[in-house]
Amino acid sequence: QVKLDGLYKTYDGTTPVLSNVNATIEAGEFFVLVGPSGCGKSTLLRMIAGLEETNGGAITIGNKRADQLMPSERDLSMVFQNYALYPHLTVFDNIVFGLHVKKVPKEERKRRGRETAEMLGLTDYLKRKPRQLSGGQRQRVALARAIVDESPVCLMDEPLSNLDAKLRAHMRAEIKQIQRRLGLTIIYVTHDQVEAMTMGDRIMVLNKGVTQQIGTPLEIYNQPANPFVATFIGSPP
Ligand code: ATP
Ligand code: MG
Repeated sequence: QVKLDGLYKTYDGTTPVLSNVNATIEAGEFFVLVGPSGCGKSTLLRMIAGLEETNGGAITIGNKRADQLMPSERDLSMVFQNYALYPHLTVFDNIVFGLHVKKVPKEERKRRGRETAEMLGLTDYLKRKPRQLSGGQRQRVALARAIVDESPVCLMDEPLSNLDAKLRAHMRAEIKQIQRRLGLTIIYVTHDQVEAMTMGDRIMVLNKGVTQQIGTPLEIYNQPANPFVATFIGSPP
């Protein structure tokens, strides 16, 4: 469980980027954060990950206050908006890099790396470097790296934004399947309404750093809380 309590964020000391954000994300839930570009989605995700300072309010992960945990102690993995793969490492070494850092023994690294690669259809590419992969394959490596970690909570920032429509639809289904199979809690950022509506157990709609509504896709679709939600969710992608 991840709990956000009255979160506030400002980068310059005056302009709020997030104001009074409250949400409780249940274990095993697929929770989508959706809103227009610049509304604060990545900032919120980075705050949960501990990569960005919180200027007010509190984050609780499991039963611990996040401000008492280092980023590495938060038991979560993250897929970044721009993948952030290591160019000089092979696909396999990119996938298991975090396990190295955590000093997981070699045999277990191998096993987990191979299993995860298989899950994401990367078995044939393990010896390649990231630059020798297509955008979609790179995106899969970024996902594999997050999943191999076996963290109970996974944060994903627009992980499918660079894919064509067909591959995106395929990967949506694949991520959902992996999430169900492993019982992961996923906090998933997107600005794509369709992605939010098809993937989310619940959706949080943000605009200009302010929560507009939290609900299931059906609730949001049938009972939008205000004209912004109605227009944003109802408008064509
Ligand atoms: P997108 O959909 O385009 O990725 P987003 O919802 O993820 O947008 P954020 O990246 O969280 O938006 O940015 C929210 C606001 O904070 C924006 O106005 C942005 O310009 C500002 N911002 C983000 N990072 C910083 C920073 N490091 N320093 C100052 N301002 C920042
Ligand atoms: Mg962003």
